[in-house]
Amino acid sequence: MNFDPTPEQQSICEAVRSLCARFPETYWRERDIDGVFPHEFYHAMGAAGWLGLAIPDAYGGAGLGVQEAAWMMKTVAESGACLSGCSSIHINIFGLMPVAAYGTEEQKQRMLPPMAQGRVKACFGVTEPDAGLNTTRLKTRAVRQGDRYVVHGQKVWISTAQVADKILLLARTTAVEDLPPGRQADGLSLFYTDLDRSKVQVRAIDKMGRHCVDSNELFFDGLEIPLEDRIGEEGKGFKYILHGMNPERILLAAEAVGVGQIALRKAAAYARERVVFDRPIGQNQGIQHPLAENWVELEAAQLLTLQAAWLHDNGRECGAQANAAKYLAAEAGFRACERAVLTHGGMGYSKEFHVERYLREIMIPRIAPVSRELILSHIAERVLGLPKSY
Ligand SMILES: Cc1cc2nc3c(=O)[nH]c(=O)nc-3n(C[C@H](O)[C@H](O)[C@H](O)COP(=O)(O)OP(=O)(O)OC[C@H]3O[C@@H](n4cnc5c(N)ncnc54)[C@H](O)[C@@H]3O)c2cc1C
Repeated sequence: MNFDPTPEQQSICEAVRSLCARFPETYWRERDIDGVFPHEFYHAMGAAGWLGLAIPDAYGGAGLGVQEAAWMMKTVAESGACLSGCSSIHINIFGLMPVAAYGTEEQKQRMLPPMAQGRVKACFGVTEPDAGLNTTRLKTRAVRQGDRYVVHGQKVWISTAQVADKILLLARTTAVEDLPPGRQADGLSLFYTDLDRSKVQVRAIDKMGRHCVDSNELFFDGLEIPLEDRIGEEGKGFKYILHGMNPERILLAAEAVGVGQIALRKAAAYARERVVFDRPIGQNQGIQHPLAENWVELEAAQLLTLQAAWLHDNGRECGAQANAAKYLAAEAGFRACERAVLTHGGMGYSKEFHVERYLREIMIPRIAPVSRELILSHIAERVLGLPKSY
């Protein structure tokens, strides 16, 4: 067993760290206040070739694995970019895995290089207001009319849709009533197509944090999708997006570990320097022990994340580990961010020290792309053999 990052993984971390140093925490605080997408960061990552890290090299990427992507995203998060930085590039890293796996040669040639090079931005449209976590209940309809599909319906929480040129869309091509009971997921199809704003209304959601990476309600009113933009077979879309789900969970876990680690570093630094009652506050065990606990939890979460990534890259089953890593990392990251605010006392609540921003952003991996409850239900059922509860 070797727990060291490979020389290649180390050099990825060093190079990404030095790129991220051009975007200090003041940059991310300003973006959080003005809510403007971090275009400069996005383009810098694209120009340096990082956006195509996991895209096959035949299509303009570097063809590396989820392990390398996890190290990279952790490094971005840990720089202070946190979820603001990671979410701005997240879809480039893992989003088009279904295209790489199930697209035609023509689709791969057409769709993958622009994402690898950062020449286009895309969003990912799955969640719907009436379906929630029950993806089998998706209602947005794509109806075939000759050589195209016409889409009507609604999505919610779709990130980056304000700036996206493209959408990876999961929509229903067979009505639920026309499918056998228990097979509702079979009627969903996957598309990667232009986000035509004359047919899709994009309405921003006012939210708690990560203000520079928008999330939106989408209203589809006759969006036309040419047949050549459907990925794989009609009705197999749910299976195709499952292909990208474990990598997505692993990357979010890595990001949560990175946010937790910078929060812990800031808290420990403040605890060493801040003097109250004539001694550094960090001399009190009441301050030390929670920070030490944060370190223990973040180390465990990082190991589980790397194990899940290793299993994935070696073609092994990784569903339980990917879900568990996302769960543990989000909880450990959250506790570290909360503790960083508390360690800073009143200053933890001010924007000057950045930790309040970390706390708002670390809520995201606890909720999305799948909740804590659904992860626990999945592990209870698939690992422990308990009856399915949802
Ligand atoms: C910042 C942000 C960005 C996002 N970006 C995207 C995006 O780009 N694209 C996209 O498609 N989606 C996106 N999402 C949506 C996200 O994936 C969903 O919010 C998430 O999957 C939860 O779904 P829901 O909000 O509908 O919760 P619901 O399904 O309404 O669930 C609400 C609560 O009930 C619990 N619950 C539900 N059923 C059960 C059960 N059977 N047992 C126990 N508990 C249960 C859930 O765990 C949760 O705590 C984003 C969300 C956020 C907050």
